[in-house]
Amino acid sequence: MPRDPRYDVLFEPVRIGPVTAKNRFYQVPHCTGLGWLRPHMLAALRGVKAEGGWGVVCTEYCSIHPASDDLPYPYASLWDEADIKSHALMVEKVHGHGALAGVELWYGGARTANLFSREVAMDVASIPNIAGDPYQTRAMDKEDIREFRRWHREAAKRAKRAGFDIVYVYATHEYMLSRFLSARTNTRTDEYGGSVENRVRLLRETIEDTKEAVGDACAVAVRFSVDEGRGGDGVPVQAERREMFEALAELPDLWDINIADYSYEMGVSRFVKEGALEPYMAFVKSITSKPVVTVGRFTSPDTMASQIERGIVDFIGAARPSIADPFLPKKIEEGRLGDIRECIGCNICYSGDGKSVPIRCTQNPTMGEEWRRGWHPEKIDARGSNSKILIVGAGPAGIEATRALGQRGYSVTLAEAGRELGGRVSTESRLPGLSEWARVRDYRVQQIERMANVEIYRESELCADDVLAVGADHVVIATGATWRRDGFGRFHPVGITDLGPGERVFTPDDIMAGRVPGGRVLLFDDDHYYMGAVLAERIRAEGMPVTLVTPADKAAAWSVYTAEQVRTQRRLLELGVEIVTAHALSAFDGREAALICAYTGRDRRIAADAVVMVTARRPNDGLYRAVSKCLAEGAEGASRSLRRIGDCEAPAIIAAAVFSGHRYARELDAPGPDEAPLLHDRVTV
Ligand code: ADP
Ligand code: SF4
Repeated sequence: MPRDPRYDVLFEPVRIGPVTAKNRFYQVPHCTGLGWLRPHMLAALRGVKAEGGWGVVCTEYCSIHPASDDLPYPYASLWDEADIKSHALMVEKVHGHGALAGVELWYGGARTANLFSREVAMDVASIPNIAGDPYQTRAMDKEDIREFRRWHREAAKRAKRAGFDIVYVYATHEYMLSRFLSARTNTRTDEYGGSVENRVRLLRETIEDTKEAVGDACAVAVRFSVDEGRGGDGVPVQAERREMFEALAELPDLWDINIADYSYEMGVSRFVKEGALEPYMAFVKSITSKPVVTVGRFTSPDTMASQIERGIVDFIGAARPSIADPFLPKKIEEGRLGDIRECIGCNICYSGDGKSVPIRCTQNPTMGEEWRRGWHPEKIDARGSNSKILIVGAGPAGIEATRALGQRGYSVTLAEAGRELGGRVSTESRLPGLSEWARVRDYRVQQIERMANVEIYRESELCADDVLAVGADHVVIATGATWRRDGFGRFHPVGITDLGPGERVFTPDDIMAGRVPGGRVLLFDDDHYYMGAVLAERIRAEGMPVTLVTPADKAAAWSVYTAEQVRTQRRLLELGVEIVTAHALSAFDGREAALICAYTGRDRRIAADAVVMVTARRPNDGLYRAVSKCLAEGAEGASRSLRRIGDCEAPAIIAAAVFSGHRYARELDAPGPDEAPLLHDRVTV
């Protein structure tokens, strides 16, 4: 189908200084958990974005010198010849698809303790490391400023040699240049401190240096925050930011606009919806004639076109939408809107950086696997046989396996006990704030419903005999997992023995099925991700007093990796949920709960009428074991293989279930790990 003319505006070329982007789709710099450690994986990942139609594809934050080192968080670097070669791998792939390649030059300052390089970090003043490491920066003197400027110029020249078209000056996200800008952090009394003019001096000089060094061939972009972060969500406070922006407005070739609150700028969908930065952008284009980009988790082409037409931005900036669907621009161009795999705003992609491992995505199981597994987000090998496959369970694992096997051309039967497809994403998407999670189901169901080689049976709870009666060549059990009621989990490896009465002990499955506890509710969260907090919110919505008890030192402790912990705890406190940290539930009798201190082992008692156990899940593997037994006993019509996938194999995050289903589909009738081992990316000098 040709593209809808309403979206023509998105495909107009845009000039950025000495270079021209072929369209308005701009993959802004985003971390990948790969950085300089995994150059081939990174090059392939960025290359796929360019192939998918993004007109500009940028790196993650790219260190200009060993004195800016963020390990264990994987960052890119342009320190030497070997780095130039690594980046050239990416640039070549990006250029190969007609896109521009951008590099975000970066100096960390007080955010980096330089634990790997052991260089002393420098910043506007001598201040403690912002990430909490027991180090302080050296206040930059004039010589340090000269050195920094030289490093930046040299790195810019290396970027040009690597082939980059856009070179960034990075002046936000609490890194060194932003600390010079802010009156709160810049306490200097020299010509780099005091007035706005003085505080922007180093940024101005760095932009001018970069233009002088590479401006003949490369566009110079500036990442800049247009608010002070004091106004709350969606309420910009420009204050001096506007004055600074006016002072620099025409200096760079492109403005990449951010805001002060990172947890809002890249907020999870529980808290932040599409296009949320628009109020902050209102004045920007009236002040500069240079092209402007910002983000907004844009997945709707109508919203995108409207942003351009109303003059909010010149480019549609994206990190997450380009991760969830690297082919988003192509799909709009080809009029295939129904094929877009929309980001669900879970921020699992961001967790790779915090965990120092390659990026993964809930919606796009191929993300990060382009090079080492050779997975492409849109293409997949045709079927390797005429086998018929039965998949039992239509949760994220089952529907992704069905979709990908269907795409390969296999004949697939999907049986689901319930009337609704989607499994846990359907039930969880009805919890407060999680509605966008249904996109995991919607994308896949839309795909499989139009595949002639896929048959879907709803309200079909299968037993082992039913499975064998289907006579499939391969059987895949994707029956999910059930939350445990017995307190078993990280804190209690054998569960809680003193727990009753049964009707007052609830699990997340009970609540998702509409059985919400009454009275004073104690929620024991030994899971530490979103479920405990979201259920506390759900129960509070019924008006019940809720106490969330966690052995961790904060609520939803793991969600720091998805940049939502602070907002989660704030939301709970605002809702009146009492949070008891460093304690675990140890007994409950229907009237009173005993808590044990995670540090001292001391007991404490609080009144409670009901408890909710958010601890661990039990795989629903009864069907798997039953079929397995029948096959071992030589049952008639025996299938050639039986596998379990997703939460039925090992309960985990939704991204793991989708990955598991996808992997099954890729590996059917394909060479095994002995013939096709996982490629191991390494830096070579
Ligand atoms: P995952 O996250 O691994 O995909 P889910 O728990 O989301 O797992 O989904 C499992 C799905 O399997 C649910 O929709 C459930 O109704 C379905 N299911 C469980 N047991 C059976 C069965 N015996 N026959 C058919 N469907 C089943
Ligand atoms: Fe979006 Fe989640 Fe994928 Fe990140 S991991 S791109 S937030 S769907």
